Amino acid sequence: MKTSFSTSALLIALLSLLVEASTWARPLQIIHTNDLHSHLEKGDSDHTGGYAAVKGVIESLKARAAEQGIETLVVDAGDFSEGNAFFFADHGRESWRLIDAMGYDAVTLGNHDWLIGTRQMDEIIASIRPRTPLLGANVEVWQSVPALREHLRPAIETTRAGARIAIVGLTTDELIYSWRVDKGRITPPIEKARELVPALRDRNDFVIALSHLGYKKDRKLAYQVPGIDLIIGGHSHTALTRPAIQKNYEGRKVPIVQTGSHGEFVGDLVVDVVKGKPLKVLSYRLVPVFRDGPRDPEMETRVSGARHSLEQRYGTDWLYETIGHSEVPIERPLHGPTRWGQLSAETLHETAGTDLSLDIGEFYGVSQPAGPVTRETLMQFYPRVFDIHRSSGWTIWRVQAPGWLLRLVLTEAVKMRQYIITAGLTYQIKTNDQGEPRVSKIRVNGRKLVDTQQYSVAVSEGLGRGGQELSALLRLIFEPEDTGVPFWSALERKIRAEGGVIRERAPASLP
Ligand SMILES: [Zn+2]
Repeated sequence: MKTSFSTSALLIALLSLLVEASTWARPLQIIHTNDLHSHLEKGDSDHTGGYAAVKGVIESLKARAAEQGIETLVVDAGDFSEGNAFFFADHGRESWRLIDAMGYDAVTLGNHDWLIGTRQMDEIIASIRPRTPLLGANVEVWQSVPALREHLRPAIETTRAGARIAIVGLTTDELIYSWRVDKGRITPPIEKARELVPALRDRNDFVIALSHLGYKKDRKLAYQVPGIDLIIGGHSHTALTRPAIQKNYEGRKVPIVQTGSHGEFVGDLVVDVVKGKPLKVLSYRLVPVFRDGPRDPEMETRVSGARHSLEQRYGTDWLYETIGHSEVPIERPLHGPTRWGQLSAETLHETAGTDLSLDIGEFYGVSQPAGPVTRETLMQFYPRVFDIHRSSGWTIWRVQAPGWLLRLVLTEAVKMRQYIITAGLTYQIKTNDQGEPRVSKIRVNGRKLVDTQQYSVAVSEGLGRGGQELSALLRLIFEPEDTGVPFWSALERKIRAEGGVIRERAPASLP
């Protein structure tokens, strides 16, 4: 008797534990993307990415979760617009329409979303009236951009899986981009998070940061701002195959996730949201997006519409005319020298007729295979525009810079692991005893750089206009001047001058 009593008591205890566990275990699926950069038709290869396939993956993940009774949140961490020729379709509007049709619960604005400036963003938002909440807690905009002001919010608060969840959007304040927020300003993101998160935490069970700060800064954010339970990141194009864990200064572990870029992967995170307990990661995977995988038919139609709109704006004859042939892959100079990076640096240098040229590898858009070169190829290679009503992208600028400033720019760029392409200037990178890269042996046209000498420098419109609009002091130093020559047409001229064929160049022979 005694035994059976204790056995049934044990059973009841076990059962009640199970019941309790089932009431408390609250899985929530968070599906996320970042840095799609208008890669509407495909990602980095012919077989991957594209919005129809991205949405196809999102919808199939959602459907599977729904079958299991699991609720879903779908978010994007920014940089959905500039970065592909498709951003030129319907003057930037198609990119915004398509992101709005993706079905996100929230999207954070990235630097490549506001590079067109607040006034043009306001114009686009006023005309398409997006339904998706646009987040940017550290973006302040003035009353002169009313549609943007109305749509932009610091955070959303929602209920999922029985828990109150706040999603706060934070965006990068790097000077190289933030000057474009002309009818407003960008404030330091971590300070803003410190200011907002406590109140959000009081009203909610969990706080998620939807961040366009980049992986390194996300770790800082996690450490410095207690109260954040999860960071969904973007900006650094980092593909994390499992959540990175960063302890905050109170010792609580904060998972950080990011999917890379260009719709190559969709993040599928399942967390347990138990009130009063730390958010627990139950599973995580980066789901590869294949073009022959599930596709969303409505998105497919919209993408074809965007192609049509691009063709209408530029004309198929102009867009698809073969202007040359590249025997080498058309690689963007993101982390080091490439044949096409060199071609660009020379194009800037020769067009502006300066002592040297400088450009940032990160400005370059899409790498493409060897083969015929059309004008669309050039647009994809350098998909940059400030004025969405101007059809020809960035122009080439001329600035003046003393030698010491050139040295400083190179030093800082190397420290930030930014690759700088140059023509007329050479330099070497050496690593010091602490393992830090250092710039040495800077030469201009074969001669040692003189700190006090003034040099004329060809740059892209991004750097030229930045120098002009950042401050009166920089304007005074740089004396920026627009040559008025669009980069694409200069590059086309250069390719024709090379006989229409771009081949690997033999390495310069040593003296
Ligand atoms: Zn990006």
